Amino acid sequence: MKEEYQFPLEEYMPRERFERIKRFAQDKETPCLILDLDVVRSKYEELRKNLPYGKIFYAVKANPNDAVVSLLRDLGSSFDVATRYELDQLLRLGVTTDRMSFGNTIKKERDIAYFYDKGVRLFATDSFEDVDKIARAAPKSRVFFRILTEGLGADWPLSRKFGCHPEMTKNLILHARDRGLDPYGISFHVGSQQRDIGQWSTALSTVSNIFNWAEDHGVKLKMINMGGGFPADYTDPTNPIEHYAGDILSYLKNNFTEEMPEIIIEPGRSMTGNCGVLVTEIVNIAKKSTHDLYHWVFLDIGKFGGLIETLDEAIKYPIYFEKSGPTLDIILAGPTCDSMDILYEKTPYDMPAGTKIGERAYILTTGAYTQSYSSIYFNGFPPLNAYVLE
Ligand SMILES: *Cc1c(COP(=O)(O)O)cnc(C)c1O
Repeated sequence: MKEEYQFPLEEYMPRERFERIKRFAQDKETPCLILDLDVVRSKYEELRKNLPYGKIFYAVKANPNDAVVSLLRDLGSSFDVATRYELDQLLRLGVTTDRMSFGNTIKKERDIAYFYDKGVRLFATDSFEDVDKIARAAPKSRVFFRILTEGLGADWPLSRKFGCHPEMTKNLILHARDRGLDPYGISFHVGSQQRDIGQWSTALSTVSNIFNWAEDHGVKLKMINMGGGFPADYTDPTNPIEHYAGDILSYLKNNFTEEMPEIIIEPGRSMTGNCGVLVTEIVNIAKKSTHDLYHWVFLDIGKFGGLIETLDEAIKYPIYFEKSGPTLDIILAGPTCDSMDILYEKTPYDMPAGTKIGERAYILTTGAYTQSYSSIYFNGFPPLNAYVLE
């Protein structure tokens, strides 16, 4: 037995809001995800206020829920679209293609043609082969070139797979121009849940170098797409958005002294992470040996139900048990018959000792990269259900 269980609920949301979500979920089967659209609205407004020079292209993949997309449509957001399926969804919801970019560098030529046919004229790229596809399937379109970043300092790095070396980017720019495309800008992603603001500085000085080189070679680039990476509130501390915005603006001013390019940002996690609360039931609480120092706590959701970002314990979700009293050190795991379905073994989590099997636990900040990651009928478990808080 240890000290009193303490969970800083109010650091994540007002208690009143938690109570509302809890009441709303009372008669719903677990696991389920409750989405509070008011939080998405205030995150959108917070980003607008802090980065007024950045045009928002919401990264749909973070949370493609129709209600979330419709709200952002009404608030005036544009959208970073990764597949023709996301494109079809946005069209169904009445988003016009002038508010979309095809941001995925990995795409089939016939999908590029599909986007072009629907009216999309803004494409990301990072290879000669992909530039050639775009030149054939989407002639004269604007293209932006994604540069490689290291993903250092990010809890969920997006490095290596995306982007190309800055030196190669220079050749790509000329190649795109020669193929009749409009070399429009440079993009990067510093890694998701990026807690080191300095990573934007490194990326922006590389971008500025490419801008200057291109101008010397007769190509005037106009846009910087700074991607995502802005944080949501998990247990590891992050700076407030004001600090990100202030530092990034000064990096921009340092690197672009004469003329500020058009700026795009593609928030995903920071827009929707905080809006979700995952309601889960405790399936079992057990020890593995008489003197086991840890209690294993099995929830009715795990890696396959939507919490895949706990891989390597990368994303550390705040988990709230309602009881008070002394605590137990726990290992948290999911309900499936796969031994990799363990959420947290190394990261210390604790639970009030009086918690009983069958009670509920609440996983906070689960509005991004959860429902869309949940598997389909592994062990027969249905995909994660989401409800919009009424
Ligand atoms: C996933 C993704 C984003 C969103 O990143 P977050 O860190 O969730 O904000 C933005 N841009 C691109 C190209 C992406 O693939």
